Amino acid sequence: MKTINYNTFYRSTIWRSKRKEILKRDNNECQRCKSNGRYSKADCVHHIKFLKDRPDLALVDSNLLSVCDICHNILHPEKLHNNDVVKRVVSEEKW
Ligand SMILES: [Zn+2]
Ligand SMILES: [Zn+2]
Repeated sequence: MKTINYNTFYRSTIWRSKRKEILKRDNNECQRCKSNGRYSKADCVHHIKFLKDRPDLALVDSNLLSVCDICHNILHPEKLHNNDVVKRVVSEEKW
């Protein structure tokens, strides 16, 4: 199975420009809050099908969603079980 280096990926120019594109598409608004009738500014772009499961969808628009930090944590329950990895990744770059 194809593996992906997250740090390399999240630092890549192609991801940075894709991320900007998605935030713009979603009007910098958290799409999860929006669907709950609330407004929050989006802080990051989330992979609906997680990057670790579907690296092939890493840059596919339909797999990307602008969300706020709070929603993002909810969307990643695995972070709670994997604190070391999370701290390292989060401090370097938003998911
Ligand atoms: Zn939100
Ligand atoms: Zn995410």
